[in-house]
Amino acid sequence: MDIITSIREMKERASAARAAAKSISFVPTMGFLHEGHASLMKEGRRRGDLLVVSIFVNPTQFGAGEDFESYPRDLARDSAIAIENGVDILFVPNAREMYPAGFQTYVNVEAVSLPLCGASRPGHFRGVTTVVVKLCNIVRPTFAFFGEKDYQQLAVIRRMVADLDMEVAVVGLPTVREADGLAMSSRNAYLSPDERKSALCLSRALAAATQLYRSGEVSVRRLREEVVGIILREPSAVIDYAEFRDGDTLEEAEQADDRTVLALAVRIGKTRLIDNLVIGGL
Ligand code: AMP
Repeated sequence: MDIITSIREMKERASAARAAAKSISFVPTMGFLHEGHASLMKEGRRRGDLLVVSIFVNPTQFGAGEDFESYPRDLARDSAIAIENGVDILFVPNAREMYPAGFQTYVNVEAVSLPLCGASRPGHFRGVTTVVVKLCNIVRPTFAFFGEKDYQQLAVIRRMVADLDMEVAVVGLPTVREADGLAMSSRNAYLSPDERKSALCLSRALAAATQLYRSGEVSVRRLREEVVGIILREPSAVIDYAEFRDGDTLEEAEQADDRTVLALAVRIGKTRLIDNLVIGGL
């Protein structure tokens, strides 16, 4: 596996692969890799000839007072995980080269970026879409892999790729969970042992809503009451949002159907966790 930090070198490798008619699989990440990232890498390995993973804690997607500085970083451990998963190139650009002095161009996806994390983290998706376009211009992937764990991010990226005629096939993959249901996340590293237990209220609420829906309840008001009740039983939990929305457009749903997604953002102590589930399983 090669570790590349220079944008020029990464572009040269991508161009050479393209010239040799090789397909490129690309997994963009912020590092501190876990099994969720590994599942994207494994699918990338299956589909493409050249597997590129990027690690970049992207400053433009963090708001003031968020955890950009403290975001966990461990390149040695990440490299070992990437090697285990058959990664060919680990692309680790630096922020000065990604955002040089004078940088002033951003990509903004409109409606689908506005609710949920877009409302509680203003500017977040603008940072995400901008960096994904930059990374795709550098890596020129045939396939790019994203997790459904970040459901809205995946919806925003799909919209952007369609709207901007980008030549990349976006592949979304299911959320990988710990044995007890907690969605894997680099930010789980922030949780104390007690908070780790409290954090189970997210997956518990998703499971309860799914069960209630499958037993015939379609009223979003009543489904939401159940979800809020389960989360607030944890004294350390503060709900940022708990919303039922259309799985494609992310517009608000009044009646649940098989495509309705329940999207959650909950603070456990100082840690903000997100999770989601399409309650009809579609
Ligand atoms: P991150 O490093 O958190 O920015 O995530 C990089 C990619 O991994 C994104 O496409 C995420 O949606 C995906 N990802 C993160 N956690 C998981 C998970 N538990 N299961 C599946 N994919 C995930």
